[in-house]
Amino acid sequence: MNTNEFIKMTERFSRTDKMPILFVGHGSPMNAIEENDFVKGWREAGNSLPRPNAILCISAHWETRGTYVTAMEKPITIHDFGGFPRELYNVEYPAPGSPALAEETRAVVTKTDVELENKWGLDHGCWSVAKHMYPNAEIPIVQLSLDHYQAPQYHYELAKELAPLRKKGVLIMGSGNMVHNLGKVAWDKLSTPGYAYDWAQEASEKLKGYIKKGDHSPLINYKSLGTAVQLAVPTPEHYLPLLYALALKEENDKISFFNDAPVGGSLTMTCVKIEQDK
Ligand code: ZN
Repeated sequence: MNTNEFIKMTERFSRTDKMPILFVGHGSPMNAIEENDFVKGWREAGNSLPRPNAILCISAHWETRGTYVTAMEKPITIHDFGGFPRELYNVEYPAPGSPALAEETRAVVTKTDVELENKWGLDHGCWSVAKHMYPNAEIPIVQLSLDHYQAPQYHYELAKELAPLRKKGVLIMGSGNMVHNLGKVAWDKLSTPGYAYDWAQEASEKLKGYIKKGDHSPLINYKSLGTAVQLAVPTPEHYLPLLYALALKEENDKISFFNDAPVGGSLTMTCVKIEQDK
C-alpha cells in the first residue's frame, strides 16, 4: 500500500462513534423487487442508522472451506437462485467494494487466516436487502464468508474479533433468517400475513427471549433447545449470521427487533438491531 492509499483508508475509516450492528432476515429473493412491509422496514433502517463508511456483510449464501473476504473494487451482483421472474435476474446492485476494508477485516481476525477473494461479489442475501437500505448503491460493501466446516461457537468467537470495525464506521450486518425451514413452507399460505406453524412461533419466541436477555450460550448451543428450534434451524447457514451480530453486542448496547413477522408458516423475517444505549 502506498502513502496515498493509506491516507485514503484512514480517512474512510476514521469515525469514532460505535456503529450499530444488524441481523436481517432476508427471506425470498423477490423482496428485492417487491414493495412490502419488510422492504419498508429495511428502508427505514437505512434512513435511521448513522451513515456507514462501509458495510461488512455475513450472508447465509456464501459458505466456504476456510474464511474469505471479498477484496475486489467492483463486486458483481450474483443471482444465486433459480426459477424466479426475469425481472429479478436483471437487477444489478453496483455498490463498490472496499479493498481497504477487506484488508482491515483480515488484520483484525486472529482466529484464522482470512483470505482475500476476488471472484465472489454480492449474493442475494446481501444485495436484496442493501438495495432497499441504500438504493443509490454508494456505500462500499464487503462480504465475509461462513466457514461451513466450523461449529457455532467458532463463528461466535470469530465474530467477536470484528468489534474494532464498529468504531471505524463499518456497519456489520448478518443476513439469514432466524426461523428458516424451506422444506416445510406452506406455499398456499405465502400471502397470508402472519401465518406461522406452532413450532415456528415457539422457536421464534424462545430465540428472541434469549436474545433479549443477552443469554447467548443457549443460542450458540441451539441444537439443544428442543424440537421446535430443531425444526426452525434444520441447517446452520441462515442461523449463523445471527450469531455474528449477537457476538458483537457489548454491555451498554440495547437490542430491538423489526420486521418481526413470519412468512409461509416456516420462516421468520425478524431483524435485530444492536446499538449503543444513549
Ligand atoms: Zn436465504
